[in-house]
Amino acid sequence: MSRIAFIGLGNMGAGMAANQVKAGRDVAAFDLSQLAVARAIASGCSSANSAEDAVRGADLVITMLPAGPHVRSLYSEHVIPNAKHGALLIDCSTIDVESARAVAKEAKAAGFRFADAPVSGGTAGADAGTLAFMVGCDEADFPEIESAISPMSRVTIRAGDHGAGQAAKICNNMLLGISMLGVCEAFALAEKLDLAPEKFFEIASKSSGQCWSLTSYAPWPGLVETAPSNRNYEGGFATAMMLKDLKLAQEAAAKSGASTPLGAQAEAIYALHERLGSGGRDFSSILQMLRGEI
Ligand code: NAD
Repeated sequence: MSRIAFIGLGNMGAGMAANQVKAGRDVAAFDLSQLAVARAIASGCSSANSAEDAVRGADLVITMLPAGPHVRSLYSEHVIPNAKHGALLIDCSTIDVESARAVAKEAKAAGFRFADAPVSGGTAGADAGTLAFMVGCDEADFPEIESAISPMSRVTIRAGDHGAGQAAKICNNMLLGISMLGVCEAFALAEKLDLAPEKFFEIASKSSGQCWSLTSYAPWPGLVETAPSNRNYEGGFATAMMLKDLKLAQEAAAKSGASTPLGAQAEAIYALHERLGSGGRDFSSILQMLRGEI
């Protein structure tokens, strides 16, 4: 993997690109934000003047962009017309399944190998190189994709063909949004019943209510040291990002005919939380809304 083009160096992309550099790879970085490019240069990337400039001569192109329309236009207008023949293209953004499949089709028609490879693990995982990747790709391409991703990952699983990575991500995050709401409601009820939150945490952590939202990401402050609840819900995974993923899940459910009533409720509740001003705060801050603090 002699040269990498990395496009999209925001909260997630910055740490991911830095880990490619740490693995000894030559990374040409591009972002629309000059601040993001400056941060990438400080972590050892070289700066590209444009997306075209970054992808020309690169063997591997990695993108980490906000949403489907960004990915569609970047690939159609900049990456596919300019990338080196035979380059491997990997999009790590969380986007809708249809966009992922459309970009894959266009890339394949132009002779490129493409993967949708969204991630789980947040900014801490991006910085530490411990993200979980869920990949949609042609089976024959997976070993090379896994090796390309390895400096950024703790685990990489092929979910299936193109679009399957995004399907896995959307389902996982719908489950996460619902489970966090359940954990927050349980803490709010425990409080009203005069049950100490520390005692409820100790018991539920060892009982059938145990889940990641409780034991790795406890929304009640003072229980899990690394959880955003201990930093006044700053950083972490923004409510607006969770809402984006819940909307993707609801759109996918409507198109496919799946019944997801709890997913729909979760979307409505996080949307209210965003309207009350918490869009930029970690999604576990929804506990404060349920406790009537905001
Ligand atoms: P971000 O907004 O911090 O970063 C996106 C970057 O893309 C920005 O720097 C922006 O300037 C850049 N960009 C947008 N359009 C561009 C273009 N055409 N050319 C070049 N650069 C462009 O977002 P983020 O938090 O890094 O998230 C990126 C993706 O990762 C999203 O799809 C998100 O859903 C997903 N994700 C985020 C987290 C998280 O905890 N933040 C966790 C898992 C997955």
